[in-house]
Amino acid sequence: MFDKFHDECGVFAIYGHAEAANLSYLGLYALQHRGQESAGIASSDGREIHCYKSMGHVADIFTPTVLSGLPGDRAIGHTRYSTAGDTVLLNAQPFSVACNKGKIAIAHNGNITNAGELRRDLERAGSIFQASSDTEVILHLVAHSRERTLAGALREALLQLEGAFSLVCLAQDRVIVARDPYGFRPLAIGTLEREAGAPAHVFASETCAFDLINAAYVNDVEPGEMVIVGPEGMSRERYTPARQLSQCVFEHVYFSRPDSIVFGRPVQESRENLGRLLAREAPVAADVVVPVPDSGVSAAIGYADEAGIPYRQALIRNHYVGRTFIEPSQAIRDFGVKLKLNPVRHLLEGKRVVLVDDSIVRGTTSRKIVRMVRGAGAAEVHMRISCPPTVSPCYYGVDTPSSSELIAANHTVEEIRRYVEADSLAYLSLEGLKDAVAERGRQYCYACYTGKYPTELVNIEELVAAKTRHG
Ligand code: AMP
Repeated sequence: MFDKFHDECGVFAIYGHAEAANLSYLGLYALQHRGQESAGIASSDGREIHCYKSMGHVADIFTPTVLSGLPGDRAIGHTRYSTAGDTVLLNAQPFSVACNKGKIAIAHNGNITNAGELRRDLERAGSIFQASSDTEVILHLVAHSRERTLAGALREALLQLEGAFSLVCLAQDRVIVARDPYGFRPLAIGTLEREAGAPAHVFASETCAFDLINAAYVNDVEPGEMVIVGPEGMSRERYTPARQLSQCVFEHVYFSRPDSIVFGRPVQESRENLGRLLAREAPVAADVVVPVPDSGVSAAIGYADEAGIPYRQALIRNHYVGRTFIEPSQAIRDFGVKLKLNPVRHLLEGKRVVLVDDSIVRGTTSRKIVRMVRGAGAAEVHMRISCPPTVSPCYYGVDTPSSSELIAANHTVEEIRRYVEADSLAYLSLEGLKDAVAERGRQYCYACYTGKYPTELVNIEELVAAKTRHG
């Protein structure tokens, strides 16, 4: 059985640079927001694959000594987020093995929805698993393949996977990256000029990783595409036809950094639009617009601009604590909000406040923040959420809890308003969300807001059970 079916992660890969591991470290450092539990880098010097992974934050893991033990001019990296239950080093990525295809390492972002079935089949055929992560399944499928080349074996493996994956794979002499045919999770391609020789090829979940290392964003790995970089250069091939495009809209709402270009679109632009449209759909007479930092900042700027109400940072965040959402137990989460946020009383006293955040998941954080703002003297607290109610769990790699814990799955907006103790509560409409991300036809997955999943979820009971255990 899998302990866990939902991984929020960041991936990075580089080919053709003498400082591959150092640059991977910097890339992962920029992708830290995509996962704070563990991180790892695998590098290849042409003969050996060297891999180092550990629990914790990127900057703490990769000391100069660790990085000097990762030689070679190609590397992949991964940063992982997880909730309680299986926060073990065994599940940290990349996974690396030596098999009949040579030495390989793999890391991915996303969630393989048929990993349970694949794993049971593989175990029946004699595979022994070390961890409970679905990435290991891909590695075993590659090792089992009768194809002679790594690209051939990987292609065969990918064709058996269902769900969401943006994958980076390292072999002794090459880097291969791929994206699932629906394009759920992002994966950008960049180039990095070198003082001498051909530019290096880089790949990352978000373009903010390229900015830090001075790489230029080229475009995205296409859904159903595999990109291979080796001594012969870079080639792109479709390993399977693209399916209905289903890019995760939540990347634009919350998950990605606002300075990134994700799915070819600036995240900041989407977020400000979300706020503007929210102000048009749900105006309120107020004195000040206050974001819940950092998740509500860009939308609050859009809201304030559109409404003509002053924007004030009246909640100050302590940046040295992790996101409260990742704390393992309710008891710690309760404490966490105070650890993280403190109100600026003189900005709030006697004021009618519009509090803007990107989403309400369980409702517990929002309730504490509303109380905190009122406790600091606000006359009214109006909560505005820059996306529709989150009514369905994500099975494609975003860590939302099961329906039973999603407040909007079981309560009306009025009930939620009462629970969070706001004077008014409004969410952005689905149409507003589509406008904000410039939807043209059908480009995004909105399953968390509609319950309409773009892929068939064969073993839904198993997926739900995993959410319930660890959501
Ligand atoms: P809640 O108290 O459960 O309603 O938490 C709401 C807060 O969680 C909001 O500030 C969101 O920005 C944040 N949030 C929403 N989804 C996620 C996620 N998948 N991972 C981490 N934080 C999230």
